[in-house]
Amino acid sequence: MAILPPLGYSDSDRVKRELRILYEVSNAMRTTLKLDQIFYMILTALTSHEGLGFNRAMVFLVNEAENVIEGKMGIGPHSGEEADKIWRGIEKEHLSFDDLLNSYDIFKRDPESRLNILVKGIKIPLTEDMGILALTILEGMPFEVTTNEARKKVSPIIRNTLNTDYFITVPLKAKDKTLGAILVDNIFTKKPITKSDIRLLTMFANHAGLAIENSRLYEETEYLSKTDWLTKLWNSGELHRTLAKELEKSRITDKNLTVLMIDVDNFKPYNDSVGHRQGDEAIRKIATLLMHRSRKNDFVARYGGEEFTIIMPDTTKKTALAIAERLKKEVEDKWAAGELPPGVPPLTISIGISTFPVDAADKDNLIHKADIALYEAKSRGKNKVCVYTPHLGKGLFGFKKKS
Ligand code: GH3
Ligand code: MG
Ligand code: MG
Repeated sequence: MAILPPLGYSDSDRVKRELRILYEVSNAMRTTLKLDQIFYMILTALTSHEGLGFNRAMVFLVNEAENVIEGKMGIGPHSGEEADKIWRGIEKEHLSFDDLLNSYDIFKRDPESRLNILVKGIKIPLTEDMGILALTILEGMPFEVTTNEARKKVSPIIRNTLNTDYFITVPLKAKDKTLGAILVDNIFTKKPITKSDIRLLTMFANHAGLAIENSRLYEETEYLSKTDWLTKLWNSGELHRTLAKELEKSRITDKNLTVLMIDVDNFKPYNDSVGHRQGDEAIRKIATLLMHRSRKNDFVARYGGEEFTIIMPDTTKKTALAIAERLKKEVEDKWAAGELPPGVPPLTISIGISTFPVDAADKDNLIHKADIALYEAKSRGKNKVCVYTPHLGKGLFGFKKKS
């Protein structure tokens, strides 16, 4: 949502206003650790009439693993007419700066803007020859693209996607690291960009950089707390939380939900023979296979040791059985090619299946029933898939679960 062009202010008014904007935005950013919400606040402050009043603002972050710059969010109208409509709408509704900063939920709910879609599609290698945006990040300093000389350095991706070659960029820094950059322009009002704009934008970007870094650290820690370090699958804590949530959804929508409990067969002799490191490697390989073969809405977790669980929302027992048979066959084929030391039995998997609501109504019971089916698969000779049926439970008295 981009707003009205800035009003005329006297110098002392301007300083007061700038301080107030910085204060309000820093305060707002402290209320959330969600990265997208922080982007929204930054860009709203840059584009809103009471904020810095630029026509459009975009945020880009460095993806270190791929050494590229990625567009994350863009706020602003796509055309002059749209700009007019938005600016009038905001005036009519008397939305305050504070209201705008806190309107992320509306932004998420509304259809995605054309500018946001365009920005999110931008990916530029982070090398010196890739234009102004890359230079902003590599050199950690702002750039004014207001002269013909500077225009020559704008990368075609930015020029063509955003249709602009009159803008400023500032780096987003946290401590001594450059995380990304902000780009702003006045494409519709053609209002000249001033030194004071750049100074304020830089101050603003320093606050924003720290907020982004905090949020990233938080999201990373949260992610690590939910995943298993060896396989990068979800861990058992997250499995239980997700299963509870998904069961609730299935209850409301009156849909089936199927759980697969998977245990690697003969893992102990394999581990003892090849050593723990190669044992880890086998666990990782099987995890990767389960991940790649699962469907978009399936949830794959490492339950513990050499045991895995897959939650399959909106899936009948019959469909799950077909998928499980395929998984079992693939693991069997993978280790059939002679990767095993002589005398070590093959690494295969056994799978037990239970389905909500037919087999159990709650999370712990559903896992328990899948476990019963899994141990039936083991007792039938391993490398088998078994579905839970009520008579299975009856033979379990005195059965001791292995680790
Ligand atoms: P079954 O065929 O009946 O499933 O038995 P199994 O040989 O697979 O072995 P069991 O369930 O008795 O023991 C599993 C072994 O898995 C014991 C443990 O040393 C090993 N293990 C558990 N977690 C890890 C791990 O993270 N890395 C490695 N390398 N080994 C593990
Ligand atoms: Mg096992
Ligand atoms: Mg086991």
